[in-house]
Amino acid sequence: MRTTELFAPTLREVPAEAEIVSHQLLLRAGFIRREAAGVYTYLPLALRVLKKINQIIREEMDRHGGQELQMPIIQSAELWQESGRWDVYGPELFRLKDRHDRDFALGPTHEEIITALVRSEVNSYKQLPLLLYQIQNKYRDERRPRFGLLRGREFIMKDLYSFDRDEQGLQLSYQKMHDAYTQVFRRCGLRFRPVEADSGAIGGSDTHEFMVLADSGEATILFCEKESCGYAANVEKAALTNVLTKTGEDLKQLAEVSTPGAHTVEEVANFLHVSPQKIIKTLLYETEEEVVAALVRGDRDVNEIKLSNALHCLHLKLAGAGTVQDITGARVGFAGPVNLKSVRIIADLEISALVNAVSGANKDDTHLINVNPVRDFTIDIIADIRMVQAGEPCPRCGSTLKEAKGIEVGQIFKLGDKYSKVLGATYLDESGQKKTIIMGCYGIGVSRTMAAAIEQNHDQDGIIWPVAIAPYHVVVVPVSVKDENQAAMAEKVYHRLVEAGIETVIDDRPERAGVKFKDADLIGCPLRITVGAKAVANEQVEVRVRKTGETIMVPVDRVESFVL
Ligand code: ATP
Ligand code: MG
Ligand code: MG
Ligand code: MG
Repeated sequence: MRTTELFAPTLREVPAEAEIVSHQLLLRAGFIRREAAGVYTYLPLALRVLKKINQIIREEMDRHGGQELQMPIIQSAELWQESGRWDVYGPELFRLKDRHDRDFALGPTHEEIITALVRSEVNSYKQLPLLLYQIQNKYRDERRPRFGLLRGREFIMKDLYSFDRDEQGLQLSYQKMHDAYTQVFRRCGLRFRPVEADSGAIGGSDTHEFMVLADSGEATILFCEKESCGYAANVEKAALTNVLTKTGEDLKQLAEVSTPGAHTVEEVANFLHVSPQKIIKTLLYETEEEVVAALVRGDRDVNEIKLSNALHCLHLKLAGAGTVQDITGARVGFAGPVNLKSVRIIADLEISALVNAVSGANKDDTHLINVNPVRDFTIDIIADIRMVQAGEPCPRCGSTLKEAKGIEVGQIFKLGDKYSKVLGATYLDESGQKKTIIMGCYGIGVSRTMAAAIEQNHDQDGIIWPVAIAPYHVVVVPVSVKDENQAAMAEKVYHRLVEAGIETVIDDRPERAGVKFKDADLIGCPLRITVGAKAVANEQVEVRVRKTGETIMVPVDRVESFVL
């Protein structure tokens, strides 16, 4: 590739809308352009990187038993109604109508579609297990699309779904994907960590997030300092681990002791044998202000409902929503996600006097007071969520926990029969008995991974691509293209490299060397080869490593063997 032909419009200035380094560099180095909030065009350099990440993913999915297919982006509402998610997913789901006024959604994920497919095509145990995946655009109308490709509204995801006969089968598929993900991110040249995550339900099924370690990450990770122990969890999960040991027995007792609306924080805390602490911020990923603002606007999505109901109870006055009169003074709220299946107890200790129990509902003005958890709802989490911090003992081995920041680039999840049951995906086992298929789902954010790679690998001059996902491996820079000898020597180097199968750009622009060096650093290919006057005189070129700045002189007629 020649820079004079390459469509990679670089920018000298840091674009004002970009607050995070990957966003700034992707714009400045000519990788992406913004189309709308959270919607981007991938320019040629970005597409090369994405293709490399996709290739690594495909190889690892295939190696671990996956088969690639491609499902539609447009999904009919009927399937979503069947699974129950049409009403639950909230405003994050992009919805649209066709000319006949029928409802559709742009797929934010594909459990419904793939479960329906397998429901109609699989009927025997002989057809299982099945691991199906695609790499495709996903659509989520994120409340705050931001940070460039890290949180887009249109983004690329690899999603794989596993179908097994039983839990043991699922365990195998899950382990395969855990291994495959480890390989994918290792091969991408990233420093990462799989961490236990919160599946959101009591005794919940397994789920791990794969976190690229970067200070700019939104997620906080706690991990054991002892490498052989291996404990690592996101901070929410670490906190929940402290309380999820509460059993059904406890809950039954709670039902017995509870009289409507009569719980004090102390009562609840005593009952649970935990020290009451302020917990709100630990459970929620966003700041209070943000949630309150969202409440005022009336935004709701699944995550938000979990949080908003919780916060709603405590901050109604502030938010100016709901029947403030009724619940002013509430100190303990019982709040539930949209279907009221689960309930959270939120204790705010700053206010010690205690009045009512309040149930969060999903519409303003529909809060119940004096509800009785267990009698009125099932409880899946009762939480005196205590922030676990670095320096505390590891829950697994007792050594000390350390903290790091991470970007969630992937997540694997045991779904069990969550979708197969409601959608009726079954098979006949050896004895002809009808059984529900057991599922897992496994996502990788491809475009987010590209951005995360930059968050982790850059310096003040620009991107430092890991070799495996670099758009090109080498950029050849003739110091002066006006000097015929230098230009010819640079061409020779370029052709030798290309012939050796090395992905190379030659910066053949009639620019000052300084400008070309700056752009080379900005774009961040692993090696730069400078062809200057000395090169012509000694038949030697300077190879410079982007990451370390090291340089070595290399004979022109063997340049490719140094690069390979
Ligand atoms: P987040 O917690 O960041 O909102 P998520 O947990 O909602 O992500 P999943 O449903 O687990 O995301 O989707 C699988 C993967 O897709 C994520 O691990 C992430 O890498 C990627 N992803 C999710 N949302 C976005 C987005 N808005 N933009 C880019 N990538 C995304
Ligand atoms: Mg999300
Ligand atoms: Mg997440
Ligand atoms: Mg996730």
